Amino acid sequence: MAEHIIHEYDKQAFNCPRCGAFANQEWYLANAIDKFKAEYHGSTVGKGSIDEFAFSKCIHCHQVSVWDKKKKTMIFPKNNNRTFDLTEIPKDLAEDYTEACLVIGDSPKASAALSRRCLQAVLREQGFSDKSLYKEIQLAIDSGKLPSHISESLDAIRNIGNFAAHPLKDTNSGEVVPVEPGEAEWNLETLEFLFDFFYVQPARTRKRKEALNEKLKNAGKPEMK
Ligand SMILES: [Zn+2]
Repeated sequence: MAEHIIHEYDKQAFNCPRCGAFANQEWYLANAIDKFKAEYHGSTVGKGSIDEFAFSKCIHCHQVSVWDKKKKTMIFPKNNNRTFDLTEIPKDLAEDYTEACLVIGDSPKASAALSRRCLQAVLREQGFSDKSLYKEIQLAIDSGKLPSHISESLDAIRNIGNFAAHPLKDTNSGEVVPVEPGEAEWNLETLEFLFDFFYVQPARTRKRKEALNEKLKNAGKPEMK
């Protein structure tokens, strides 16, 4: 998994709090906008200054994050310390994951409901489809296609989540039901393993292959299939 650089005030590049990609950030302050606006209206004095804020714009997704200049802390989006690069992840999955990250501090229950639903969607997309999440996890484990650390993480989801006592978690994965301590975090970490295995690594291999074929082609040699 690529290293994730936590966002920091005035830093040139980090994993974007909006899209997750590692990208350069353009920093700017509000007073510049304010001055421009004031001049446009024929005044030399800015009104309604929002001097206390700074803004970082991601050059990858062009979305802006808002910072408290004095405290040097991020105000928007709500602090999300998980910064998995979601560039290669299908949009609907990335959305559920991001939302599960954002709400975990306020509502682990809501977060776990989202991450279970996302987990189920990933498994189903990979062909592990059954009547319940419990059985889908079993199918994935039994397939022998997953590395052992992922199988173990998946298996633990059922145990930590105490699926036996909360059948709704199993049969209706998006349901908001009580969570056990550590469950919401565990689900997110497992999702990151799955994302990495099913989407990030294959994309990386594809790119390496393309680069290699380019070299082979330039050297007049047959390309690798
Ligand atoms: Zn971004």
